[in-house]
Amino acid sequence: MSLQQVAVIGAGTMGNGIAHVFAQGGFKVNLIDVNQAQLEKALQTITKNFDRQIAKGSATEDQKAAALGRITTFNDLSAGVLNAELVVEAATENVDLKLKIFKQLDECANPNAILATNTSSISITKIASVTKRANKVIGMHFMNPVPVMKLVEIINGYATDKDVTDMIVALSKQLGKVPCVVNDYPGFIANRILMPMINEAIYSLYEGVAGVEEIDTVMKLGMAHPMGPLQLADFIGLDVCYSILKVLHDGFGNPKYAPCPLLTNMVTAGYLGAKSGEGFYKYTPGSKDLVVSGMFKK
Ligand code: NAD
Repeated sequence: MSLQQVAVIGAGTMGNGIAHVFAQGGFKVNLIDVNQAQLEKALQTITKNFDRQIAKGSATEDQKAAALGRITTFNDLSAGVLNAELVVEAATENVDLKLKIFKQLDECANPNAILATNTSSISITKIASVTKRANKVIGMHFMNPVPVMKLVEIINGYATDKDVTDMIVALSKQLGKVPCVVNDYPGFIANRILMPMINEAIYSLYEGVAGVEEIDTVMKLGMAHPMGPLQLADFIGLDVCYSILKVLHDGFGNPKYAPCPLLTNMVTAGYLGAKSGEGFYKYTPGSKDLVVSGMFKK
């Protein structure tokens, strides 16, 4: 199958990055979001990220212009997926929303189209079950920031065809990524291991064991992590972390996965991390300084 047209659903943190790498890889991309402001912001982010690549010498102005020219934006899902051979869904991490989107997708996308989801934790088998093509549904879990991070965790649902997996593996390599195929259990591999660590870091803060900077410094300097777990949580989005922990908690029925009450409070209050301007740190547009949120200053 030689793919040409891709549709990406959701133009948030992940959707803009996914659109970026497909467009850079020569694919035509329909980028779909219900929120027009998000689509405009996504195009600005893609432009900014290309400028970074150009400054580093990994892309040229011509490549940027060509890639941006391959992206078309849509508010309407059925119009945006009509001609797509592959759909990559990257909408908000909410199970009811994903089931609704996949039901609609199954009805309006080409019957031969592969339907992939970038979900961090929701069961691929469950998402596939609302379609009439469970064999063509697969997890294609990119990492944040998508243009930079090499890994794509590919998740086989219970009924995913081997041909579909092989095709997504080959496509990921074509995008310059390193695919890793795993099976469909809560959190897959990446978040089953990452989220309990982030939750434990939040518990350590909540219980007063240490402050934000101390927790992140211990993990950066002591464990050679490029970024501390609290900064990483801000970067992922605290609402996304919360949703993944809920999936792990519900899926395994083990209390060790219950989201820390501090995380729950922060999400309820709208302190979602970098994307909302404040989480464990405070973010000022244009500034790279890491400033601890006033909420956690001693
Ligand atoms: P986000 O909140 O930044 O963006 C979600 C986007 O989906 C928003 O722009 C929203 O307007 C849009 N949306 C909501 N309902 C929609 C609909 N019906 N149709 C079209 N668009 C719709 O979220 P995100 O962080 O980009 O996460 C997207 C997906 O990627 C989630 O499944 C998440 O678990 C996964 N993911 C996130 C990360 C991360 O680091 N943030 C990493 C890997 C995977």
